[in-house]
Amino acid sequence: MSAIAQMIDPVADVEQELTDGFHLVIDALKLNGIDTIYGVPGIPITDLGRMAQAEGIRVVSFRHEQNAGNAAAIAGFLTKKPGICLTVSAPGFLNGLTALANATTNCFPMILISGSSEREIVDLQQGDYEEMDQLAIAKPLCKAAFRVLHAADIGIGVARAIRAAVSGRPGGVYLDLPAKLFSQVMDAEAGAKSLVKVIDAAPAQLPAPSAVKRALDVLKAAKRPLIILGKGAAYSQADEEIRTFVEKSGIPFLPMSMAKGILPDTHPQSAGAARSTVLKDADVVLLVGARLNWLLSHGKGKTWGDAPKKFIQIDIEPKEMDSNVEIVAPLVGDIGSCISALLAGIDGSWQAPSTEWTGAINARKEANIAKMAPKLMKNSAPMDFHSALGALRTVIKERPDAILVNEGANTLDLARGIIDMYEPRKRLDVGTWGVMGIGMGFAVGAAVETGKPVLAVEGDSAFGFSGMEVETICRYNLPVCIVIFNNNGIYRGTDTDPTGRDPGTTVFVKDSRYDKMMEAFGGVGVHVTTPDELKRAVDKAMDSGVPTLINAAIDPAAGSESGNIGSLNPQSVVKKKS
Ligand code: ADP
Ligand code: MG
Repeated sequence: MSAIAQMIDPVADVEQELTDGFHLVIDALKLNGIDTIYGVPGIPITDLGRMAQAEGIRVVSFRHEQNAGNAAAIAGFLTKKPGICLTVSAPGFLNGLTALANATTNCFPMILISGSSEREIVDLQQGDYEEMDQLAIAKPLCKAAFRVLHAADIGIGVARAIRAAVSGRPGGVYLDLPAKLFSQVMDAEAGAKSLVKVIDAAPAQLPAPSAVKRALDVLKAAKRPLIILGKGAAYSQADEEIRTFVEKSGIPFLPMSMAKGILPDTHPQSAGAARSTVLKDADVVLLVGARLNWLLSHGKGKTWGDAPKKFIQIDIEPKEMDSNVEIVAPLVGDIGSCISALLAGIDGSWQAPSTEWTGAINARKEANIAKMAPKLMKNSAPMDFHSALGALRTVIKERPDAILVNEGANTLDLARGIIDMYEPRKRLDVGTWGVMGIGMGFAVGAAVETGKPVLAVEGDSAFGFSGMEVETICRYNLPVCIVIFNNNGIYRGTDTDPTGRDPGTTVFVKDSRYDKMMEAFGGVGVHVTTPDELKRAVDKAMDSGVPTLINAAIDPAAGSESGNIGSLNPQSVVKKKS
């Protein structure tokens, strides 16, 4: 407990120990087990960062708040503790807001703490330094938003922010701390008493026995059952329960992107390589921490075939049920509790799915895997996406505890299918929004939180959104290896300006050497043109733990428009007469 010893009343000659807003915020975070802050320093929170570091909190300073926010968000996903992002007022706050909104959309717990300007001046719009009503702006973009005006309320403010972030469906929380608060002084003992240690921040939520029975009845009557694991399942850390349930039930499973690895992609029950078949043909689908949003075609339409389907859904958020289609057996509760309850129902009377169903899936899987195999083994120059990803697939197979960060268009879509994952929470990607720009923030957050080697597989465009953080990676000497799939542009590197005046709208400087960026900050830069060279360079980086950026030259003509989601990108059919 830190405090300022000060004589406040020399006449009475009473020595009173004092504390202030800065110290109370730090003490409140520490009391609640927060050991890391991600942020960008500046007015009015410069000293808060300095003092937090001095008090033993790890403070990781970024070059842009969005990346600090993304690091905090992924820290939340990996640890189930809210990741903290600290920013300056107005512009810094707004930069952090993208990450806060993205965290909320993805159900990652994080707290954006921003300094703000003088309330009296902001509310009268008298033009303060970085004037902005930040609380009002943050509110619709996060789960909860709070402002603390009195030092005595800091303990409660931090406690509410933590509980709001991690309880129920996790999400982003905004905490507004006006500049004046930091220098408010109060009695140290009263200050210490005002702090709150949050008890049972994310309480278990048990499903009702009748809901469990309903779900088991539907599951038992299924002929072609399927389990879909989502990132909520990965977040819940109920790894053992989920694995046991899947294996005891014998039901095939399909992992969503960030749920890959809860059970290995090479597991005999994995239906990953037969995705379209199982979605079309299953008659009962058990969703475990996965929403029926656009990533699952809203549970209807061509993707899901004509056969009638019944959905069972496990989710901690009751309002998620029936969001897109009828859920015949809603199981509201935390995933660990719900899966344990279902597991108790897998008794002697349980019948594993028919070999007709599992056999059909296996046949499709094997056919798809055999079709893909030769594409992954080509040692060509220039590389295409498949041959380069074939090399990285082997890297992860040999280093299953490494964390894979992945963004881009083709780089993302193809890596998701090609690179098998073996352990939970090792694949971190663009999530629910399919957002670009998470790369370096996630890489830093993952390295700091886990201490494991990180492999960031980045499209050249995607990398650009957070590329300046290579300096941060070098400064903190983090074991991050970045591989840039450099195809000279967005989707492809071959577009031109029909008028001949400028470069095409989707192309970058041809044959850029991103590897030189890393060298500028003392890291290792490597330029590779074949899958063999790529594999060697990644292995070396991961063995050494030295920050490395590998510029992988990819055929500029190899990509397809918008990757796998080209159908979402409207294209004009009107031909203009010239
Ligand atoms: P994916 O994109 O992988 O399908 P989503 O983000 O769509 O995953 O869905 C995750 C779901 O998991 C959300 O609806 C969220 O409410 C839920 N969830 C998150 N944590 C838990 C938990 N501990 N228990 C139950 N449900 C959870
Ligand atoms: Mg590209």
